[in-house]
Amino acid sequence: MADFTIVIHGGAGTILKEDMSPGLEKAYLEGLQSGLEAGYAVLKEGGTAVNAVKASLVILEDNILFNAGRGSVFTKKGVQEMDAAIMDGSDLSAGAVAGIRNVRNPIELATEVMRNSNHVFLSGKGANDFAIKQGVKLEPDEYFFSQFRYDQWKAIRDSDNYSLDHTHHHLEELLKDKKFGTVGATAFDSNGNIAAATSTGGMTNKKYGRIGDSPMIGSGTYANNATCGISCTGHGEMFIRSVAAYDVSCLIEYKGFSLQEAMNIVVNEKLMKMNGEGGMIGVDAKGNHAMIFNSAGMYRGVKNSKGYNEVSIYK
Ligand code: ASP
Repeated sequence: MADFTIVIHGGAGTILKEDMSPGLEKAYLEGLQSGLEAGYAVLKEGGTAVNAVKASLVILEDNILFNAGRGSVFTKKGVQEMDAAIMDGSDLSAGAVAGIRNVRNPIELATEVMRNSNHVFLSGKGANDFAIKQGVKLEPDEYFFSQFRYDQWKAIRDSDNYSLDHTHHHLEELLKDKKFGTVGATAFDSNGNIAAATSTGGMTNKKYGRIGDSPMIGSGTYANNATCGISCTGHGEMFIRSVAAYDVSCLIEYKGFSLQEAMNIVVNEKLMKMNGEGGMIGVDAKGNHAMIFNSAGMYRGVKNSKGYNEVSIYK
């Protein structure tokens, strides 16, 4: 069987070893490893890149440690509004949802949009109606409640600040039990297909229906069999303005850069210039992978058919 690779992330930001207890660090690494295993199992059975990234994300969305699905952060109004996207690099089909509530696995809904609607991007109530129509699993508000997220939000809810789940500018006092984590995955399957997916609760205390880069095709998520698959994490506004994921693909397609070179230019040059904190993971059309970030840390992992397995957090 030909080679295959799965790469995942669980968010980037000011993630420092000194802020982490050994127990929490272990829980994150285990969470990442189970996300990897789920995607890897699909690829090993000869499954598609799309099904692999979806399988990884479901596991990460169900894990309360990550800011997606169950562990999503609170908005200004004290609720969870989630964004997600998936893209199939074999035919450039894509599905995305924004501002959805009570959906257990936003990535399932994004996949439904990709496969079973005539659209690419659904938002808010309409997206929720579509979830009901497609029979996507819903959960009550309590499912999404965690004391940590609540405290994190309480500390800034009376201000106009909003924050990256993983940046401690406004949240020093909460650092001790801080959690991180938009989640993403990109895969290269044994038939040479590439897919990418990203899922998030967005930024703590976001308001006015703010939507980040994660569900925006080309900004936080992009896949094309001819070039690469990319999933981003970080300060979404900057990733939108720099069309980050698609820019990597363009640098490969039009300039002939390698995946590593292209990601490095976008993350460490272009985003850095605009104070765009964060990072991204990627695979290319040969199954090579890269994981690059300009922040102190990024939860990340990779597993491939050549026997390589890595899960890591810091620089
Ligand atoms: N990029 C996400 C957003 O801006 C946040 C993150 O990656 O943690 O919504």
